[in-house]
Amino acid sequence: MSHVLHRMLGKTYPVAEGGAGVMLRDRDGRDHIDASGGAAVSCIGHGHPDVLAAMHAQIDKLAYAHTSFFTSDVAEELADHLIARAPAGMDSVYFCSSGSEAIEACLKMARHYFVETGELKRVNFISRRQSYHGITLGALAVGGRMKDRAAFAEMLMTGHHISPCFDYRGRRPDETAEQYGLRVADELEAKILELGPETVCAFVAETVVGATLGAATAAPGYFKRVREICDRYGLLLILDEVMCGMGRTGTLHACEQEGVAPDLMAIAKGLGGGYAPIGAMLVSKRIAEAVRRGSGLFPHSQTYVGHPLACATALAVQKVIERDDLLANVRRQGARLEQRLRERFGNHHHVGDIRGRGHFWGVEIVADRASKTPFDPVLKLNARIKEAAMERGLMIYPMGGTADGTAGDHVLLAPPFIIDAATVDTIVERLGDAVDAALGTVQPI
Ligand code: PMP
Repeated sequence: MSHVLHRMLGKTYPVAEGGAGVMLRDRDGRDHIDASGGAAVSCIGHGHPDVLAAMHAQIDKLAYAHTSFFTSDVAEELADHLIARAPAGMDSVYFCSSGSEAIEACLKMARHYFVETGELKRVNFISRRQSYHGITLGALAVGGRMKDRAAFAEMLMTGHHISPCFDYRGRRPDETAEQYGLRVADELEAKILELGPETVCAFVAETVVGATLGAATAAPGYFKRVREICDRYGLLLILDEVMCGMGRTGTLHACEQEGVAPDLMAIAKGLGGGYAPIGAMLVSKRIAEAVRRGSGLFPHSQTYVGHPLACATALAVQKVIERDDLLANVRRQGARLEQRLRERFGNHHHVGDIRGRGHFWGVEIVADRASKTPFDPVLKLNARIKEAAMERGLMIYPMGGTADGTAGDHVLLAPPFIIDAATVDTIVERLGDAVDAALGTVQPI
């Protein structure tokens, strides 16, 4: 029996033993195409020699020094690298070890900013239903995925949730995408007025929604309107780009394509590409300067902040992405992936929606296309698709629908940025077979 506490206790997992490029190999010698980059993490694939060399070099020099004593060249260089390429107005970087921690840091920095500026009543966070921001208590409170929250709901700080911007299930037939985007953005204003503008600290949203809605991009104009509303009422905009950021959608930050810059931003997964556990909070100049002018202290630190080995690793990953112009490949192969998905699933009886951007695509499976009725969540169709895909040597990221029908089963594709055309085609072929095989286990197709 395994003594590792997995999410699913009692389940037996295959053992991963090696990886090269887009492939992962298990202990039985089977190769799997990592079409989800794990959980949208492995952006430059596995076993990249340049990253391994940088890791070796750093570990030969120094693995760790506590940041209450020292900074390190690699933490400084990585922060410089990120700020030079950050959305407008960014100033500082706080390095942590995961996406959840990056979100926690954003929540606390947002509150701390208002403590520094004397707006002490600002304690409320507004976020969106069906969102995922991580698993720690603060992240759960702003998150909107009910099954993660249920057991802990009574101990969480109060969350204030509005509708997500989810075109497939949210837009009314009489609305254009733009009208829909503005309507749901305006829910933010209504919520601010309901709570009292002087009590609202920040709005938290994923620029492109990953795990919960399967690569749901916002309607055109949505984030511009959100930004305007935040500015009008003086609250901060926190963008969660833990999953959709660091090149995943074809630009380094997903918000570049929305034409907005946040006040605080969380990044993680693609930052270290899976080679090191690292996340970060990017902090705007306005906030950093308020803290510098005020107490000069962010009362939040962790043992592994700015871990030199993690920073050297992330720096190497980011340099490979830039040197090899991998974002151009994300745009090129992303277009092919979309085209292949539309060819394979566009007329599929049980595919309700194909959505995404760059190397971030979701395919939603429904019982009935016309009414968009999801399959009964009890069937766990998404898990069946994952299993059928694994049998075919394909890793995809599955997500179940909700019992209230506000989301259906979907699978998420987030392949490494290095992928080539032939592998894109193989992914879609195997996914098509896996979806049909899984559907065959729940009903005759
Ligand atoms: N935010 C988003 C959007 C995520 O997708 C995730 C992880 N799936 C997190 C936060 C939490 O990141 P981590 O699992 O590294 O704590």
